[in-house]
Amino acid sequence: MKGTKFILNGGSRCLRCKSVVVQARTRAVLSPDGSHFVLNGSKIWISNGGIAEIMTVFAQTPIEKDGKTVDKVTAFIVERSFGGVSSGPPENKMGIKCSNTTEVYYEDVRVPVENVLGGVGNGFKVAMNILNNGRFGMAAALAGTQRAALRQAAEHAATRTQFGRRLAEFKGVQEKLARMAMLQYTTESLAYMVSGNMDSGATDYHLEAAISKVFASDSAWAVVDEAIQILGGMGFMRATGLERVLRDLRIFRIFEGTNDILRLFVALTGVQFAGSHLQELQRAFKNPTAHLGLIFNEAGRRATAAVGLARGPDLGPLVAPELKPAAAELARCVAEHGRAVEAALRRHGRAIVDEQQTLNALAAAAIDAYTAAAVVSRASRAQRLRLPSAEHEARLAAAWAEEALARIPARLHATRDARAQQHDARLAALGSAVAAHGGQISPNPLGL
Ligand SMILES: Cc1cc2nc3c(=O)[nH]c(=O)nc-3n(C[C@H](O)[C@H](O)[C@H](O)COP(=O)(O)OP(=O)(O)OC[C@H]3O[C@@H](n4cnc5c(N)ncnc54)[C@H](O)[C@@H]3O)c2cc1C
Repeated sequence: MKGTKFILNGGSRCLRCKSVVVQARTRAVLSPDGSHFVLNGSKIWISNGGIAEIMTVFAQTPIEKDGKTVDKVTAFIVERSFGGVSSGPPENKMGIKCSNTTEVYYEDVRVPVENVLGGVGNGFKVAMNILNNGRFGMAAALAGTQRAALRQAAEHAATRTQFGRRLAEFKGVQEKLARMAMLQYTTESLAYMVSGNMDSGATDYHLEAAISKVFASDSAWAVVDEAIQILGGMGFMRATGLERVLRDLRIFRIFEGTNDILRLFVALTGVQFAGSHLQELQRAFKNPTAHLGLIFNEAGRRATAAVGLARGPDLGPLVAPELKPAAAELARCVAEHGRAVEAALRRHGRAIVDEQQTLNALAAAAIDAYTAAAVVSRASRAQRLRLPSAEHEARLAAAWAEEALARIPARLHATRDARAQQHDARLAALGSAVAAHGGQISPNPLGL
């Protein structure tokens, strides 16, 4: 296996959501003697597609279920040496130009049954596991990218003189550097938090991995863009190197699940959890004597919330003294988030899946809360261990938590407020009209 290149291959859409998996065009059919599958199809935009010797392929396979034949996705390990595997020319891309991206074709490829990964029909689960790992890795990699951009910007700000002062002496530039440092620290904290969970044996970290991918790729874009701004005209020069980094970075918001889809995934996972809890309650009320504990707990929780006493989990004992206010605010936000999800679910029922603006607000609030938790936790650890950076870390964490947590009430309010909903509807109608008219609605700007 040494030196072998792997690729992840499948319907690009298939890795994202179940409904589109069905449209994946690659198909594998079991041979009459049951010894191998015959694989046919193709997939565009495969990283390492032209050079990989071994690839993970997701294909539709016919399966017998309740007397009917249905298609389910199966994962296969396919080797180029099986024959019938070919690749198109490398794509001409905006960035990551040293990564070979091609279409891959499969023509009557004979894949031994031993090469099925995770069992026939279980491909979706396999794909999700692969993506979880890729997404978590992105936060680690992009924390490094941000660190390098921050270093370049800081060095420039410390040496470049304008209007008789070094750039680093201007408060506007100081704030930019502070924000870049906060984003970098938060991204890095997410990578540590998810990997810490994985190391401690957690298997259910798909939500955290998705959040870290979204946050890391958005932050890296913002940090490198701001580094270019601090470098001024120098930032725009190829020799400075940041333009290449910006182009290379752009794809991270698109592949391994676009950030837009992942935000919906984050929100819908929360909604699904709340939905099953409500269903459980519904069932409990049908037979109250058998579920008294559950009903009393819930009644107590709702009563404290109704009189404004619900505070959420008490994180105070776990955090550094100067981060206790942030921890208390975080707990309030988490409790409030739960109520907002439940309210949205009551209002929209199953139609919540189409309320993307509400879902985006819920996801943004969840991401703000999770990132605040990550930095507060890391900075508290730094203080517990008396690290030399503890004071700086506490300041970074407090600054990030302050801003992230302050955004949450407004985001949650928007999911319930009639005026905010009207505005959402207006934006959706505007976007729909723009699409229907090919971009420009008025034929000429002044109607002349
Ligand atoms: C350089 C490169 C390398 C790649 N490598 C691989 C690889 O190795 N293996 C692999 O399997 N794939 C790979 N891909 C494919 C990549 O994963 C997909 O491009 C990506 O998932 C987005 O899918 P799409 O291009 O079909 O965009 P679309 O699904 O067409 O999305 C277009 C836009 O619409 C938005 N959108 C789509 N659906 C919805 C919705 N329901 N609600 C709201 N917004 C929506 C998206 O967020 C996006 O902004 C690669 C792509 C590139 C460019």
